[in-house]
Amino acid sequence: MTQAFDIVVAGAGMVGAALATGLGQNGFRVALVDKAATPRFDAGAPPDIRVSALSAGSERYLQQLGAWPRILAMRTTAYRRLAVWDQTQHPLSKLLPRKLGEVVFDAASLSASHLGHIVENRITQKALWQCAEEQPSVTVLSGNGVTAVDSGNDQATVTLEDGSELTCELVIGADGALSRIRDMAGIGVTRDQYAQQAMVISVRYLGPVEDITWQAFHPSGPRAFLPLHSAGDQHQGESWASLVWYDAPEELARLKALDTESLRLEIQKAFPGDLPTLTHIDARASFPIARQHAKHYSNGRVVLVGDAAHTINPLAGQGVNLGFQDAVCLQSHIREARRSGCDLADSQWLARYEQQRRPANRRMMLAMDAFYHLFSNRIPPVHLLRNLGLSAARALPFARNQVARYAMGIDDELPAVVKQITSRLPGLHLP
Ligand SMILES: Cc1cc2nc3c(=O)[nH]c(=O)nc-3n(C[C@H](O)[C@H](O)[C@H](O)COP(=O)(O)OP(=O)(O)OC[C@H]3O[C@@H](n4cnc5c(N)ncnc54)[C@H](O)[C@@H]3O)c2cc1C
Repeated sequence: MTQAFDIVVAGAGMVGAALATGLGQNGFRVALVDKAATPRFDAGAPPDIRVSALSAGSERYLQQLGAWPRILAMRTTAYRRLAVWDQTQHPLSKLLPRKLGEVVFDAASLSASHLGHIVENRITQKALWQCAEEQPSVTVLSGNGVTAVDSGNDQATVTLEDGSELTCELVIGADGALSRIRDMAGIGVTRDQYAQQAMVISVRYLGPVEDITWQAFHPSGPRAFLPLHSAGDQHQGESWASLVWYDAPEELARLKALDTESLRLEIQKAFPGDLPTLTHIDARASFPIARQHAKHYSNGRVVLVGDAAHTINPLAGQGVNLGFQDAVCLQSHIREARRSGCDLADSQWLARYEQQRRPANRRMMLAMDAFYHLFSNRIPPVHLLRNLGLSAARALPFARNQVARYAMGIDDELPAVVKQITSRLPGLHLP
């Protein structure tokens, strides 16, 4: 059976589902296809192991799509403060208070009610699937992956696992970091694997829901706390949180192999004293982390968005926020292509999308790289430098607030000083 659409979005993760909804709102006939089944939400179940810090900019976007009220109706946690500090031990560690190098971003000083929200990925995804399904011109096809894409002169043909075919003018590859659509379109990537990996751990702790998310930088990698919701009547006085432990793959393999109680004790010992007392570990999973950038964002009738186009070090939680910015940008160019009577895969419009998004994505990659190298370094002068940097950030609330506004999605551009720094970093030759 063959069905005809304007656009096929391959991959209904957070980015693909958002873009399909937006395109549906613009009246395009869209097929949103995912190899996975419809995401489920059970209010009584423990949180999804995958959570994301969504910026105020992403919240605005999800609001426009109609997904935000649905997310709030399921569950989400606002954070009002964000703290980072250097936890490296040095000869003066015992004499100097740790808080000396701590930088705290506070919503109050930005005249904002919150800095962002921590949301479980499957909740964001479910809300977006519901929005997509409500659009009369969007057809959601789940549990049926894309197996082939044939880019012809007038149209593309997309083949699904069950053998059915979809024809369209444009195929959007939103199928994540290991994108097969990217491979099928013959688009290569540049990839650098970091020496560290990330282990995410879902935990319950004694105490109320926190309004702070924090990250302590150790030379072996950061250790982070992301607050989640209350654990409810069943576990009175307890709350859920997500922890992220970055370290060498061998160390994370050792930790992953521990029984739950031993891991709980290790975490309590290795994380800073700010971590409340843990009562339960629900789940753990580790992820390789890599900086990856597609060599082109489009080829023929295929264009890439989100992790299919780029992945960055998750240490500042910006991955899906960048993907949403891709979606907004691509949608506006597709609309312009239609308005000017062009083919939706017209190369001039797709090139404009890449011209806008590639430099912005690359800047964020470089900024994350700078953090990674600066904080993974044990050399004493570098240690001194980063603490001077943190102290300067403490002393310069204007610059600090500018960075926070960018990270929150309030401002679209990085502050000029940060742009200058990233433009001087080695690695600028990266595509
Ligand atoms: C440890 C960790 C922590 C992170 N924390 C944050 C954070 O705090 N904030 C943040 O912004 N980002 C964070 N990220 C990054 C974020 O998770 C990703 O950027 C985001 O999930 C990318 O979304 P996506 O929709 O592009 O891709 P994905 O979420 O990977 O979705 C891809 C979809 O495509 C589908 N698919 C795959 N192959 C096919 C096929 N052949 N046919 C059809 N469908 C297919 C999959 O089933 C999936 O639904 C983190 C990442 C990691 C590893």
